[in-house]
Amino acid sequence: MLIGAAAAAASVPVGSADTASTLIKGDINRDDSVSVGDVVLLENYLLKKYGLNEQQMTAADMNSDGSVDVFDLVHLKELLLVKSNVLPKGTWIGDCLGAKRYFSFGDGDGVLTYPEGGRSRRFSIEADRDLFCLTMNDTESSISAVVTWLSDSSFVLRWEDGTAEVFRFLCDNIVSSSEFLSGHWVTSQGRTFDMDGLSGKLSDRNGNISRFEYAPDGENIVFHFGSTDNNTEGKIVHTDSMHFKITWSDGTEEVFTRQEIEKKDGITYVNGILIANKTYGLPSDYNPGKILPEAQSAFEEMQAAAKKDGITLTIVSGFRSYSYQGTLYNNYVARDGKADADTYSARPGYSEHQTGLAMDLNNASRYFNGSKEAKWIAANCWKYGFIIRYPEGKQDITGYMYESWHVRYLGKELAKEVYDSGLTLEEFLCIDSKYKS
Ligand SMILES: [Zn+2]
Repeated sequence: MLIGAAAAAASVPVGSADTASTLIKGDINRDDSVSVGDVVLLENYLLKKYGLNEQQMTAADMNSDGSVDVFDLVHLKELLLVKSNVLPKGTWIGDCLGAKRYFSFGDGDGVLTYPEGGRSRRFSIEADRDLFCLTMNDTESSISAVVTWLSDSSFVLRWEDGTAEVFRFLCDNIVSSSEFLSGHWVTSQGRTFDMDGLSGKLSDRNGNISRFEYAPDGENIVFHFGSTDNNTEGKIVHTDSMHFKITWSDGTEEVFTRQEIEKKDGITYVNGILIANKTYGLPSDYNPGKILPEAQSAFEEMQAAAKKDGITLTIVSGFRSYSYQGTLYNNYVARDGKADADTYSARPGYSEHQTGLAMDLNNASRYFNGSKEAKWIAANCWKYGFIIRYPEGKQDITGYMYESWHVRYLGKELAKEVYDSGLTLEEFLCIDSKYKS
């Protein structure tokens, strides 16, 4: 009946189900589908003509109220009547023995998405009573499955190779891979979400781990945790390239910060941004030798713009090597002691000046704070790709006292995002700046 069914059967179902152990609501005679035979059996049970065993009783208790009565018969009849020739709509999670994938159903067509990496395939679908026929667009192969509706939000497909896949409703929308939030996220509630495609792992404050599927649904986001039957929903707002916020249905807010920490040749990158602070040091042999060209030309652009406003900007300290920073720091320790020196000078390997992306402007001393030049830098440096790296009142977070003269090059897009957020770079990336000892 179906062309290429055997080939498709091998490529679509995800595993072999132990059909005998899968309980389908309404399948009282245990023939793996819900049909008129089940109605007859239930009617005869209610007329006390037949007895039902324990499994049959569970299958017959349609409304799960712990007893089998005429209400279950009504539910069963409705199920058979209403769902014939009906195709699902929206996005559903298919689960075959724990292997999950997503089916987004449109009007006679849809998208099948595999959670890992979010690979997807398009298909068309037809319903003929309780038989679905899917044709995969890429291979033009067709495969059929018998559908058994368990409720408005779940059904079972029995694929023609005998595997059974249970479907649970996730959201009304068709989801596309561009909306996936793949990556490692840390949240303002101290939780971490590792998302891959449309599935993920949540670790709470205490290190408890739970697994979930999720889907963006317009302004909403829906999570389905494996251990519960209920979906968890919230409203999602994307703040910038590294943050989004969810307002959960109970009104609580949770800010999500992307945090991909990568170490290459001893250098730490967070979301691709080179970081040098008290937590993340640089190797002694990292030595660009000068301010990096991109940062240098950005400074020159800023310098020219400042000049038009009657402001003169000069670099008084740009690149500093590991060994030069060591000399500076040791002199400060000798003069002021270690504790004091640590508040204004970096230990060798921990100075942002070693990156070639940081510079001190005009006058690297507290007398510069509040000057018209300092005010101009604070108000305008983001337009040229810089941020004030150690703002006032953030010493506990950045590890350094206020430095109105020290700017860090991030590129225009990112500098604007950090400026708009009102956060320090540490807060923006949810990272620490603390020496280990
Ligand atoms: Zn500096």
